[in-house]
Amino acid sequence: MPSRSTSASDAGPALDPLVVNDFGRRLRAWYRRSARDLPWRNTRDAYRILVSELMLQQTQVSRVVPKYHEFLKTFPSLAHVARATPDRVTEAWSGLGYYARARNLHRLALRVTSDGTRRRAKLPSEPHQLRELPGIGAYTAGAVASFAYGKRAALVDTNVARVLSRVFAPALSPKRPRDLTAIWRIAERSLPRTGAATWTHNQALMELGALVCTARVAHCHRCPVRVVCASAGDGSPG
Ligand code: SF4
Repeated sequence: MPSRSTSASDAGPALDPLVVNDFGRRLRAWYRRSARDLPWRNTRDAYRILVSELMLQQTQVSRVVPKYHEFLKTFPSLAHVARATPDRVTEAWSGLGYYARARNLHRLALRVTSDGTRRRAKLPSEPHQLRELPGIGAYTAGAVASFAYGKRAALVDTNVARVLSRVFAPALSPKRPRDLTAIWRIAERSLPRTGAATWTHNQALMELGALVCTARVAHCHRCPVRVVCASAGDGSPG
């Protein structure tokens, strides 16, 4: 097993570039072969991606898919959200729960509306700009910047944190805030060099955490990155 870390702190462990490159190549190749066809993966529209990311917080993919289509039929753009009442947006969100997400989406739409008639609304493209908007945290900012705008931006949700810690730094626990900071550093350092490859890389990290390296069990025998993973064969949740 190649060495992949020499020290750990909030700055994150030092990573072996050869291992990082091999990990990324294997991960992205697997994604191209095995990814699920989900509707938000077929668009680069920032608003649609934002809606999907907000809906997927705390909610299973199978429940989100029909609601995503339905919501976008009612509100095809961020400007449509801005022109609606908060209650109308919340109503369209019904069935998904966690209604603060819908209320934040409405507040966000008002914030980014660029003219008095509420006919144009555009999300910014940089993670630090996105994070200033209501309801957008570090993960969602990275997701919108990467998936909509092709930015070389990292993202870490629970699936990604689990995969990256198991592969590169098993001593880190995503449940400890200090370790989570270190895992963010790993996510940033393991990004591919270009924004175009980053789209696939980030989607693949999330997909591996959802389908293979899951919270309940690590399916190491069918994992595309097992030869570079520090936890391969363990098979137990970290
Ligand atoms: S080899 Fe096992 S522990 Fe490592 S990423 Fe794959 S499934 Fe997870």
